[in-house]
Amino acid sequence: MAAYADIIIDIAAPVLDRTFQYEIPPQLRERATVGAPVLVPFATAKKPRRGYIVGLSDEAKIDASRIRPIEDIPERDLTIEDSLVELAYRIKRRYGGSLYDALRTVIPSRQKIAAVPKRKVRRAMSLEALESLIAQLPKRETAKLRLYSALAETEEIPYELVTGKLKITKAALTKAQDEGILTVAELDDDENEPGAGLTVTLNDEQIAAADTVAESLENGGVFVLHGITGSGKTEVYLRVIEQALAQGKQVIVLIPEIALTYQTVLRFYRCFGDRVAFVHSKMPAGERYRMRERARDGKISIMIGPRSALFTPFPNLGLIIVDEEHETSYRSELTPRYHAVEVAVERARMCGATVVLGSATPSLETYYRCEQGEYRLLSLTKRAKDGAVLPRTEIVDLREELKAKNFSVISQRLRSAIEDRLAKREQIMLFLNRRGYAGFVSCRSCGYIAQCPHCDISLTYHNDGTLRCHYCGHRVPYKKTCPECGSQYFLPFGKSGTQKIEELVEKEFPKARVLRMDADTTKAADDYEAILSEFAEGKGDILIGTQMIVKGHDFPNVTLVGALAADLSLGVADYACAERTFDLLAQAAGRAGRDKIPGEVIIQTYRPDHYAITAAATADYRSFYETEIRYRRSIGYPPVRHLLTIVGGHRREATLESAMDELAARLREVAEADGAVVIGPAPPQLQKKNDMYFRVLYVKHGDCETLIRVKDAAEQWMHEGHGGVGLTFDMD
Ligand code: ADP
Ligand code: ZN
Ligand code: ZN
Repeated sequence: MAAYADIIIDIAAPVLDRTFQYEIPPQLRERATVGAPVLVPFATAKKPRRGYIVGLSDEAKIDASRIRPIEDIPERDLTIEDSLVELAYRIKRRYGGSLYDALRTVIPSRQKIAAVPKRKVRRAMSLEALESLIAQLPKRETAKLRLYSALAETEEIPYELVTGKLKITKAALTKAQDEGILTVAELDDDENEPGAGLTVTLNDEQIAAADTVAESLENGGVFVLHGITGSGKTEVYLRVIEQALAQGKQVIVLIPEIALTYQTVLRFYRCFGDRVAFVHSKMPAGERYRMRERARDGKISIMIGPRSALFTPFPNLGLIIVDEEHETSYRSELTPRYHAVEVAVERARMCGATVVLGSATPSLETYYRCEQGEYRLLSLTKRAKDGAVLPRTEIVDLREELKAKNFSVISQRLRSAIEDRLAKREQIMLFLNRRGYAGFVSCRSCGYIAQCPHCDISLTYHNDGTLRCHYCGHRVPYKKTCPECGSQYFLPFGKSGTQKIEELVEKEFPKARVLRMDADTTKAADDYEAILSEFAEGKGDILIGTQMIVKGHDFPNVTLVGALAADLSLGVADYACAERTFDLLAQAAGRAGRDKIPGEVIIQTYRPDHYAITAAATADYRSFYETEIRYRRSIGYPPVRHLLTIVGGHRREATLESAMDELAARLREVAEADGAVVIGPAPPQLQKKNDMYFRVLYVKHGDCETLIRVKDAAEQWMHEGHGGVGLTFDMD
């Protein structure tokens, strides 16, 4: 047992790596673990200060006689900070990286915060007067239109929501105030308006789901709310939140950044008034910090936000809701690469809270856990709104188009549907599924895709004229002749995307007003919402875009959704590509016919028989799940087994290669006795970036703990030097 401990005194200090060494008295050694809260003497202060152990060692770093002993390691009475430090420690353990990184993820550094009064924007004129003002407004005054329409809809809106999500400048607000349209009222911090409560009468399925969750608020548990888009999941959340608040508990609602719209936040405000707060990543750090303080001090009870909202310091957290739980944005791209859904479950377990994971297409991992009896499944099977029905879906076989000498990306069937909608003045969304497909090779004539014989992953085209597997490094020479049908159409896809489609659509439908949304047209922070609101306001007939356009937006006038090349994402060199494809198509289908007019979905594909496509077309999650889980089981991928990805990076390719070979050998020694399989090293999809070379190793095992041991061994190997190869880890 270690004799000394490195301790941080102030976790909110901007610089975290200032640690102090203390001696651990023998009677406390058993309790001295990394992450434990301690009481220590500090400087000349009379009272001991609270700190945390972040490291243990047997040697004194300075003259041992100058090291003071830890006073106590309290066993009980943990504060919210203690439990967040504990959570950081668990994150570090599972996902790798340093404890500092994990602490910074969980507890942001302290920010100077100006005292900002609580403010609201209130309508100051009659509804009739405001509506006639809206009617007279020139169309290009989009900001004013947003503001006035919002005030016509809701008399009183929190100030941050207006300047934040609604993007109204302070100057515009002052001007509108001078014109007598609105007032900005300052409120007392303790003056809490309660909100209107629930307004919708739930249907039987919704009531059953809400009641089941509410019953577990006492003891905790994890629920999966599986409901098609528009089935009323959000209404269920609101009901359950109400119950949690009634029990004096606090609630965290995670929503992917992209779906965290003004309308969504407002829905929660209407219901719960000032007890609601929201954060988002573009908010200034000081403001986010203030929100945390307010949460800790009990001034708010519901925090809505993207993944980081998970670490809100609520002292009596009772419920965590994760909406659209299948979204890949819940996985952090920065070290530690934690997964918010897993961490939500972990945090809830630590404090006895309940978790609700909601989705129309639950991740395979989540659904698998339902099947294993770890999570409980709740289902909503129909659209909640009166008269709203699921859209009709049709699959168009692009190979037939080729035979009919139609080389356009738009099939005959889709073309006539577009013409029909344009004539009826209804809106259309065209969705190009192009998640990283550059290099993907497929036969346009028969749909064949080359696969690795060892990994069952599609091979990727490389400029040296080979097809390669990014898992194990297997390679074969590329030939233009299709090995399956002998046609000359076995070709790699280029990078052309939405812009080309836009040109084509404009040429084929010259009268249509076309909007485009992709990474190029949404460079600035506001662009994304600007395009969406233009489309929502009816300023475009056709919206063309990448997966961005299919996420959770509600356009009542959209009656046709076209997926241009649905199978492109099936070619991504990733074991989960069928799942991504199914998700995207199911979500895209969910965009059509959200209101009274029935919608239609046309899926164009070279592989009309692929289960991800047929299941998405019939909105049959269950059949997709069963086929996919059989595949994952047969080949040993998550969620049936766990997969640890280790990426090594170095400036010199030769150094990297020999070091990674050595690491692979070391890990085989460590892990193969336990039944783990080490695959690679292989060049990953992105082999070189910023002059750094990369190689990847995969380790598969049924048990997460074994993989954590493998990860620890790899981390230790990295600390030994080995030419300075840096490693990053990714679990599942
Ligand atoms: P989801 O979150 O599953 O996509 P929402 O909760 O947003 O679904 O509900 C979709 C639409 O149906 C919303 O306009 C909502 O107000 C409405 N709605 C939900 N539940 C009911 C209900 N029980 N009765 C009538 N309308 C409902
Ligand atoms: Zn392979
Ligand atoms: Zn072929």
